[in-house]
Formats: sequence, C-alpha cells, structure tokens
Amino acid sequence: MMHLKMYINGEWVDAASKKTREIVNPANGEIIALAAEGDVEDARHAIQVARQAFDSGVWSEQPPAERARYLFAIADKLEERAEEIGRLETLDNGKPLRETAFDVADAVACFRYYAGLVTKPDGQTYHVADPMQALVIREPVGVCGLIVPWNYPLLMGVWKIAPALAAGNTIVFKPSEITPVTTIKLFEIIDEVGIPKGVANMVLGAGATVGNELAESHLVDKISFTGGTVTGRSIMKAAAGNIKKISLELGGKSPNIVFADADFETAVDYALFAIFANQGQVCAAGSRLLLEDSIHDRFVERLVERAKNIRVGAGDDPSTEMGPLVSQAHMEKVLHYIELGKAEGARLMCGGNRITDNGREKGYYVEPTIFTDTTPSMKIVQEEIFGPVLAIQRFQDEADAIRIANDTVYGLAGGVFTQDGAKAMRVVKKLRAGITWINCYHPTYNEAPWGGYKQSGIGRGLGTFGFDEFTEVKQININLQVQPTGWFEN
Ligand code: NAD
Repeated sequence: MMHLKMYINGEWVDAASKKTREIVNPANGEIIALAAEGDVEDARHAIQVARQAFDSGVWSEQPPAERARYLFAIADKLEERAEEIGRLETLDNGKPLRETAFDVADAVACFRYYAGLVTKPDGQTYHVADPMQALVIREPVGVCGLIVPWNYPLLMGVWKIAPALAAGNTIVFKPSEITPVTTIKLFEIIDEVGIPKGVANMVLGAGATVGNELAESHLVDKISFTGGTVTGRSIMKAAAGNIKKISLELGGKSPNIVFADADFETAVDYALFAIFANQGQVCAAGSRLLLEDSIHDRFVERLVERAKNIRVGAGDDPSTEMGPLVSQAHMEKVLHYIELGKAEGARLMCGGNRITDNGREKGYYVEPTIFTDTTPSMKIVQEEIFGPVLAIQRFQDEADAIRIANDTVYGLAGGVFTQDGAKAMRVVKKLRAGITWINCYHPTYNEAPWGGYKQSGIGRGLGTFGFDEFTEVKQININLQVQPTGWFEN
C-alpha cells in the first residue's frame, strides 16, 4: 500500500493533523493508498512558502532559458517513467491503459511546448511621439493556486503547472482528493530535477478546505481552476477578496451535430468516441448528439449496435475499451441521471445499468447508455452527467440544429459532421463554444487554446493564450531626452 505525502518547501510531509484518506481503485473497490489529508492549516503553510519563494526572485529572476532547462528535464524524466505512471493512473482513475499512455505522452509534450515557448520572441514596442519610447513586457503573476479534477489527474495538472512555472510563477497545486497518485510522481520528478525549494508545492485534501483556502487567501495572486461549474462559481466568490486573477475551465453539455450528407460510418464512429471515451468523464464530451431527421432512425440503429459491442472492463486489461467510473459516489450520480431520463419520458435504446457480472461486481462499471425521444427541457439534455450517457436530439434543418446546439447554459465544445464545407463553417461559426471540430471530435493540441464560452468558463488554457493567463502585462514608457516637462511655470 502506498503512503502519499504532500510536497511543501521541498519536503515530503504528512498533514499537520496526521489525518489520511483512503484512495480506492475503481476497478475493484480495493484501497491502493493512504494519502495525507491536508487542511486549511497545511494550505496556509504552502501558500506562505510559495509567497516567500516568489518574492525572493529565486525562480522569476532566472533567465527563461534556465527555467526551460528544468522543464525539459521534467519532460525527459516523465517520459522515462511513462509506463509506470500510466499504470498508476489506470489504478487510481480506472481509465484504460491506452488512454493513460496517451495522457502521459501528452503531459510530456506539454512540458516541452512551454519550455520551448519561454525563449521565443515576446512583448511589443510602440511608435509614439518622440522623444518617448513605449514598450510592453510580460511578467509572472506571482503565487498561483492550481486546482484540478479527477478525470485526467496528471494531464489537467500539467496543463497548469507547465505554463505557470515557465512564466516564472510559484505554485501551490491541489489535485482532486480522490486521484492524487500520479501528480505525486510528477512532484517526485520536480524534486529530482532540483527546482528551488518553495517554487512548486503540492497540498492534498478536500476542495471545501484546501481548495477554498487557495481561492480566498490574499497571499495568492491567481487561481487557475478546472472542475465543475458550481465549484467555479464558489471560487469566483472566494477570489473576490483580493481581486485575484482567475481562469476557470468548467463543465459542458456539448452538441455533436450530424447532417444527412455526412460520411455515415465516420460520423457514427466519432459519435461513439465523443461520448464514451474516458467513460464519458470528459468536460468536452459530445454528450448531446443532434441528428438530422432523415437519417435519425438509421443512425441510431447503427450507433446502438456498436455501443452494445464496447468492451467494458478493468483498465489494466489490454482488451478493455471502456473502464469503470471513477468512484462509487460518481457512479451513483450517473445511475441517478439514467433513472431521471426514464422518468422524464426519454426512450432508453441501450445500456442503463450497472455491470456486476464476470468479476466486475466490486467495480463501478456502467453500460454505455443511449437515450432518444428527448425534449430540450429534460434534465438529461440540459445537465452535465459526466458519464457514458448520450442524449439524442432530432433536428429539421441548419437553423434548427444551431438553435438546439446553443440551447444550454454551457458553451465548451461542439462538433459538426457534413461533407458540405461551407455549411460546416457556417454552423461552427454560429456555435457559442470555445472548442469546435469539423468531421472529427476530441483532438486536442498543446498549441491551441482550450476553454469555453458562457458558463463553461473564463479564460483559456494551453497554447500562447494559456501562457498569457499566467502573466501580467506591464507597459514601460522611456523618456529618451531627459529634461523637465515645463508644464508648471514656477
Ligand atoms: P469539482 O468541481 O467537484 O472538483 C474539482 C476540484 O476542485 C477538486 O480538486 C476539488 O477538490 C476542488 N474543489 C471542490 N470544491 C471546492 C471549493 N469550494 N473551493 C475550491 N476548490 C474546490 O469537479 P470534479 O467532480 O472533480 O470534476 C468534474 C468536473 O470537472 C466536470 O464538471 C467537468 O466538466 C470539469 N472539467 C472541466 C474541464 C475543462 O477543461 N473545461 C476539464 C476537466 C474537467
């Protein structure tokens, strides 16, 4: 059994209270680790350390190329340990090995991307009236609180840690309390490469205590949060005390629109991938499938046939295509939504049950589930379920598709399938969403900004936009002819 500690000021420490939390393998309910359960006191300690480290300049004043060297070293070590870390992610989160292998590779690439970015041209100069010269530089924000969810425990962490450190900030990182294992491995690597003490800190524990303290503390300059919209709202309120900078990457109920002229098998294939990858526990999941009336029945038939064949099992079985949900509590929430869908009058086309046969009785497995005959006001159409549950909506024409697609409080992502390029662009431009796909669903790149419109968040992660979120902008005005203004005569 693993004993997981927190990393504060370059030391591995237990919670001040000595409390621990059991970490569970969702494939079989077994306890795999005891993690230190930090509290407000531990968070305050880490914040103070990060504050001192930032104010000392030990990190922010290092040349960008030097910070880049540390990040490249982290990437190399993460890559060397990719298999071990991928296995641990599967053990802790449940997702299949092929997904965790992808997550670790993407995390490595993210560190390299930001290591490369910090030494590239930056800033602006303006032509203003002589003898003045105006220029703009970027500086780190300061102490950053980074809070992430459990669906991509390592990757969501790296999406924040890499740009925050690259930009010269110091950090206090909080993983989800139920999936801390792989980010602890990442902090072992951060320790090994010798990043100065106090620059990168990790506190374990609950959102309401540790997370809230990060959001409230006046010693923290910025919060970067990924998680649910309800939590995001609470963080905005907590962050108001010192007008903290905030970036929020929140939930979604994203539409995947298939027109009658789409390549049929490609659209079916991506519709499955859009909702059932990572067991549907994806913020950008295509959880609403919008089908043009004329292909609706044929499409549903093919989709259901393929959904029934998805192999659901333990993530460490190489033949598994879909793993268990992350926890018993989350499985119960998803099953509750399925019951709600039935009660609301939607038609259950497949799935709908927990799976308990063939050694799966102690895990948190749910069948791939598809509902048709939905109406726009149903909860299964409006609310984020965050599981393998697809709600299908029918549309008549392009205008109808756009109207239905935008009819939720969310605006994270959306996909369009059609062989008419002009129509695809027209529809995508009308989607009130930050991430869109044409004739595909889900590809994500470290180079491109990630984030949502409406209640799906504020700001963007990844790419240069994601880097900018971890910087402040300063204008510098230089007088090249040093003499008084003469504004006042005497
Ligand atoms: P969550 O909001 O419950 O928790 C996320 C993190 O916030 C956890 O570390 C948690 O401990 C912490 N937290 C909880 N309450 C807090 C509080 N009051 N103050 C500060 N921190 C607090 O979300 P979850 O259930 O872990 O993850 C699922 C959610 O994450 C989904 O809604 C999903 O859409 C969203 N998500 C969004 C993105 C994105 O990029 N937009 C990516 C992944 C997941």
